[in-house]
Amino acid sequence: MGGSVVSVLAWRLAAFTVVAITLGWVFGGMLWWLLVLALAIVVYLVVSLQILEQWLRTGKRRSAATGTGVFAPIYSDIIQLKQRARRRKKRFHRLLREVRESTGAMHDGGVILNAELEIIWLNEAAERLLALDAARDQGQHITNLVRHPAFVAYLNRQQYAEKLQMPGPNRGTHLSVQLIPYGNQQKLLIVQDITRQVRLENMRRDFVANASHELRSPLTVVGGYLESLADDQDLPSAWQEPVGEMQRQVRRMNSIVHDLITLSRLEAAEREAGETPVDVPAMLGLLQREALARPTRPQQIEFDVDGDVLVRGEEQELHSVFSNLLNNALRFTPSEGHVGCRWWRDENGAHFSIADTGIGIPEELIPRITERFFRVDTGRAREVGGTGLGLAIVKHALLRHGGRLEIVSEPGRGSTFICHFPAARTVLRPAAETVSA
Ligand code: ADP
Repeated sequence: MGGSVVSVLAWRLAAFTVVAITLGWVFGGMLWWLLVLALAIVVYLVVSLQILEQWLRTGKRRSAATGTGVFAPIYSDIIQLKQRARRRKKRFHRLLREVRESTGAMHDGGVILNAELEIIWLNEAAERLLALDAARDQGQHITNLVRHPAFVAYLNRQQYAEKLQMPGPNRGTHLSVQLIPYGNQQKLLIVQDITRQVRLENMRRDFVANASHELRSPLTVVGGYLESLADDQDLPSAWQEPVGEMQRQVRRMNSIVHDLITLSRLEAAEREAGETPVDVPAMLGLLQREALARPTRPQQIEFDVDGDVLVRGEEQELHSVFSNLLNNALRFTPSEGHVGCRWWRDENGAHFSIADTGIGIPEELIPRITERFFRVDTGRAREVGGTGLGLAIVKHALLRHGGRLEIVSEPGRGSTFICHFPAARTVLRPAAETVSA
C-alpha cells in the first residue's frame, strides 16, 4: 500500500484493533487482547527501527521484508535522496575536474586570497608567473611571497579598479595584476604576463627617441644654410618666398622633434615625478609677460594667481604643462577674445585653470585631443602652427605629478582646461620668502 508512514500505520492499527476487539468478544478478556496487540506493535516498530538503523549505517540494500513494512515509504524516500546525492556528487566532481583543467590551461594566473590575504588556491600560470608553489605556499600571506613594494602598496590602497604593472619575480619579466574582491571578503588576484607588450613599447619609445635625436643635427644644418640664404642680399627675388616657406617648415620640424623628445623623456621616466617644491607663481608670472609681449594675441589676457601656492615636482615638466596650455589658448582665440588663467588651492589640492573665448572643441572629440598628433581641424591647426603633441605632453607630465586634466569646451564659445594637482604635492610658500608672482 502506498502513502505516508502515518497513513500505513493508521490503517494497520485500525485493522489489528478490529481483530483484537473481535477476539476479545469471542473469547473474552478484551483488555488482554488489546495489550497483546499493543505489545506486538511496539516490538514490530522496535525491530523495524533497528533494521532501518542498521541499513542506514551499513548502506546495505534493503531486504524484501523491510520493503513491505510500515517504513517502506521512508526506505524509498531515502533511496531516492541517496541516488540524487550520488548524481549531484558525480556532477560536482565532473565540474571540479573541468574547472581544474580549464584554469590549468589558462595563460593568465589566478590566485584566490582570503580576507587576511592568505593564499587559498592558485593555478599553474600563477605558480609560473609569480614563482610560487601551490603545495608549499597555500595558507601563506601573499606579501610574504610577492614582495615588490608597488604590489604591497597596491594591496594596501584598497582601490583595485586599475591594474598594476610591475616587474615579475622571474628576471626580465613584466606583469599586470588586478585584485577583484568577491563573496565574503575573498579576493581573486589576476596575473597577466605583459613582458612582450612592455618590450615592444620600450622598442617603440627608444626608436622614436633615437630617430628624433638623429634628426636634430641635419635640421640644424639645413636651418643654418636657409638662414644664410635668407640674409643674402643677392638672393634673387623669386627665391625669397620659397626660402621663407622652407624656414617656416624647418622651424615646424624643429618643434615636432623637440616635442617628440620631450614626450619620450616623459614616457621613459619613472611614473612619479620628483618632489622639489616648484615656484609655480613665478613661472606663471614669466609666462604672463611672454604672452603680453606677443605681436598677435587676444586683447584681454588676465592672470589671477595665489602667490603662496607651490607644487612639488619637476620644474621643466610643469613649465611644459602651463606653456602648452597657454600657447593653445592664445593660438585658438581671436584677437578680440579673452584668455583668463587662475592658480589656486583648496582642500583637494592645487589647481590651474585656463579659460578662453576661442573656437572651442566639439564635445565628441574632447576625449581624443590628448592623443598624439590629433588635431580637431587640421587646416586651422596647421595654420596656427602646432605640432599636435602639446596636450599629449601635458597629460603625461600631469600623470607623473599624480594630477589630471579636465577639459570643458563648447564650439564657438571657448574652452577651459583645468589641471588638478593632489593635496599631497601642494605646499605653501615658507613665510620668510617674498611673493615673486
Ligand atoms: P597642437 O600643437 O596642434 O595645438 P595640441 O596637442 O596642443 O596640439 O592640441 C591638439 C588639438 O586640440 C589642437 O590641434 C586643437 O585642435 C585642439 N585644441 C587644443 N587647445 C585648444 C583650445 N584652447 N581651443 C580650441 N582647440 C584646442
